[in-house]
Order: sequence, then structure tokens, then C-alpha cells
Amino acid sequence: ALIICPHAWTPWYGIYGANSGYDSLEEAFGNLAKYILAVETGLSSSPAMNWRISDLDRRAIVSFSDAHSPKKLGREATVFSGNFKDEVTFNDIAGAISERFLGKNSGRLKISYTIEFHPEEGKYHYTGHRSCKVVQSPEETRTKGIICHVCGKSLTVGVEHRVDELAHGREPLKAVKKISEHGVVGYYHPTDPTRPPYIMTVPLHEILAEALSTGVASKKVDALYESLITEFGTEFNVLLKTDLEAVAKTAGERVVEGLKKVRSGEIVVNPGYDGVFGVVKIWPSPDEKKDATVRSNQPSLF
Ligand SMILES: [Zn+2]
Ligand SMILES: [Zn+2]
Repeated sequence: ALIICPHAWTPWYGIYGANSGYDSLEEAFGNLAKYILAVETGLSSSPAMNWRISDLDRRAIVSFSDAHSPKKLGREATVFSGNFKDEVTFNDIAGAISERFLGKNSGRLKISYTIEFHPEEGKYHYTGHRSCKVVQSPEETRTKGIICHVCGKSLTVGVEHRVDELAHGREPLKAVKKISEHGVVGYYHPTDPTRPPYIMTVPLHEILAEALSTGVASKKVDALYESLITEFGTEFNVLLKTDLEAVAKTAGERVVEGLKKVRSGEIVVNPGYDGVFGVVKIWPSPDEKKDATVRSNQPSLF
């Protein structure tokens, strides 16, 4: 078996969640912690945030999708690579994920990289109260505390603040950026080459909706999404690999501009909190830009 703690930082149900009651895997599982070989980042944390946690130094950091609805399948993913033609087996996947902990790999695959949301887009990135409309960055939380000034109850502590707590003084890491031939920015561990890098993207539906100035659930967006997927095979192909000149013929210049910005990370994300998703702005208004710069005191990655 292969046991992975999913969405490890979700406040209510994640193993490191602010309300889980545990600060380490040993605390949670005792002498069975040695069977936990990996954790899954969930939407609200990035691998760079997880690299700060000493509990995870010897564990793989992976990303998977959420199966609540078909549209949301494959939001995040772990990409494996290997050089063989026959079928991938469970042992290949388990071997790659266990390698960091066991120091050996019994399969034929390696973890190549992970595909991530921008952590700010997750529902629990910042600390806050949805019904009281209170949102706090980790810096604000350090000075104001976690009691809601509107209702007097405890705020839902966001993942960024929680990671800071469990990093026990380890400073935020500056991931090293490298750009792929398709213009996609990869984020690499600054000193440990055995940590797989990651890329960050935005769901295609959201890019199309903003490019067409219409809702994510609109028929226009669905129709364009379907024709792009029919032409280029998969959503990840369109987001990460397809030649953008080819996309322009089907989807127009504005969609291509949006894809370019998402690939290079030139977007603004207003962080999510207490169950409210963060909001991506590919073409932010000057106000939204200013707001996001003020809000986003996420320890800068660069
Ligand atoms: Zn993830
Ligand atoms: Zn409140």
C-alpha cells in the first residue's frame, strides 16, 4: 500500500490543518508515521511552502486532483517520467513516490514535476471569516491575532499562516524560476536538486471567461473550451504545451494573450480565505493590481 495525506493543510481535515490538533506526522501517527511517505499539497499551498517543513524533508510532495465534480478533475497533478514502452504499474508509481523516504526506487518512474494552482487561489490561503468579511494576511495575523473583530470568535486560520507556524523559524524559500520552450515558468528548489520542480496554472475555463468577459459557467466559454480540447487533445496541452499561434486561429488573440500571461505567471490573485476561493485576474484593473500587491505579502518567491 501507499499512504499519502491528501490536502495536508486544509484547516478542518488536513493533517497539518490549523484545527487538526497535530503539528507533525509523528504526533498524529506515532510509530506508524514511517508509513506516510508523501503528502499532497492541496490547492492552498505550493511545494515551496512545503519545502520549509522539516517533517517533509524526507517525504515526497505531490499534487492530485479533486474528484468532487468532473469539471474539476485534473486541477492539480503529479507528472511522472520514465523510459519504457509497456504499461505503467502500481509499483512504478509507488516506487517513484517512496524514493525520497526509502532512498531507493523499486519502480521505473521518477516524479518529474507537479502541476499546481496558484496557492492564493485555494479556499484557505489567508486567515479570515467568510460571513464577517474579515480577511488577514499572515503579517496582519501576527499583529492582530486570530480572534475575529466582528463576531469575537476564532478566525479560520489560513494555510500560509499555518505553514509559517510549522516552519519553526525556517525562512521562506526563494524558488528559482526557469522558463520552458513553451513559455511556462518552472519553480525549482534553490539548493536541493532532488526536489521535483513545479509549475502553476489556472483552469482553462477561468482564462476563457476572463478573455471573453463572461461567466465561467457560460455557454460561450463551454463551447470554446470544447473546440479547443477537440483540436488540441487535453486541457493541459492547451495550458502548457500547444503552440500559441495555432491556438490563436481557434480562440483569437485575447485568449492567446491570457494563456501567455498564465504561462509566464504575470497575473494577479486575490487570496482565498475561510472557504472562499481566491480570484485570478489576468487583466487586473489598476485598483485590483494595487489591492493585490498590498494583500499579497506572500513571502516573495523571487
Ligand atoms: Zn497541490
Ligand atoms: Zn467573525
